[in-house]
Amino acid sequence: MLVLSMPDRTDRKGRASRQGSNMTSTTSSASSAPVLPDYAPVPQSALGPALNEQGYYVGRVERNLYWVTDGTYQSAFLTTSDGVVLLDAPPTIGHNIRRAVDEIAAANGVSNKVTHLIYSHHHADHGGASFLFDKDVSRIGHVETRRLLLRDDDPARPAPEETFQDRRSLEIGGERIDLAWYGSNHSPDNIYIHLPDHDTLMLVDIVNAGWAPVYISNLTEDIPGYIEAPSKALVYPWKHFIGGHLGRLGTRDDVTLHRQYMADIAASVRQAIDTVDPTPYFVKYGENAWAGVKGYLDAVSDAAAAPVVEKYTGVLAAADVFTASTAFWVMESIRLDLGYGSQVHP
Ligand SMILES: [Zn+2]
Repeated sequence: MLVLSMPDRTDRKGRASRQGSNMTSTTSSASSAPVLPDYAPVPQSALGPALNEQGYYVGRVERNLYWVTDGTYQSAFLTTSDGVVLLDAPPTIGHNIRRAVDEIAAANGVSNKVTHLIYSHHHADHGGASFLFDKDVSRIGHVETRRLLLRDDDPARPAPEETFQDRRSLEIGGERIDLAWYGSNHSPDNIYIHLPDHDTLMLVDIVNAGWAPVYISNLTEDIPGYIEAPSKALVYPWKHFIGGHLGRLGTRDDVTLHRQYMADIAASVRQAIDTVDPTPYFVKYGENAWAGVKGYLDAVSDAAAAPVVEKYTGVLAAADVFTASTAFWVMESIRLDLGYGSQVHP
């Protein structure tokens, strides 16, 4: 990156020199460095435990259920009398999943053999280390996860052989795991993994405990489903939440706070649709229809995001980084899924 950018910088500097003074040259050189915005500090409450030398943390959730994080991604596993049940295998944690399982199994004197792997959904960033557990592992997932993984044909993510459509209760080594699918949300195949005897719900890519969602509502395919998901999660009894991202576990308060954040964005979007005047954008750009659309819709999402950023800065980490992106995607859903603000030509 640095090497590649050097000739460009020299070239610009050179041209600036030819054009005139040293002052111009200095200014040009300085301006070629990327201008990086500053953001609000990350609240301490958003951060999790320190990682070990190998770059992971493994901790007990409850009894024989453990979670592993590299600070950005999360995986979990259950040690049972029949072996280990792994819940997701993010490639960023990769071989550290094996190390974490070995560490816990050795400490507790139980089997470290991974016998089952449950996919939360088909995405590579949560399942891309699945191939590390290739031999003799039963892979379990939603029927749509199987269809999508067969479609994507990624050797890192073998498709699950055992599938279910709406509900499936597993009992492995005397431990219960209830799987449920309530329709699409973040992805078409994203499931709820409830461990009733461990007071835990795993639901990935919906709520990032302590943090705002990343780009466009956690890169969500179905915004109405995504917005409903926290309420569905809260119907279950549980104390511990495994959201799949960032460095700490979640609580019911985290899920409730996220639900409020999304509701605030949706309300603010409706208000912005009602109040931002599209006229100046279309007048200015004339026949360039896309420039008018961009100017107007960016203005609506920025107006919608502003009060939400103000409310959640210091509450949810990176609210000032990604709320505008999420507001844009919620706005598109409110316009296109719900038809809000849609006008029929007279
Ligand atoms: Zn995903």
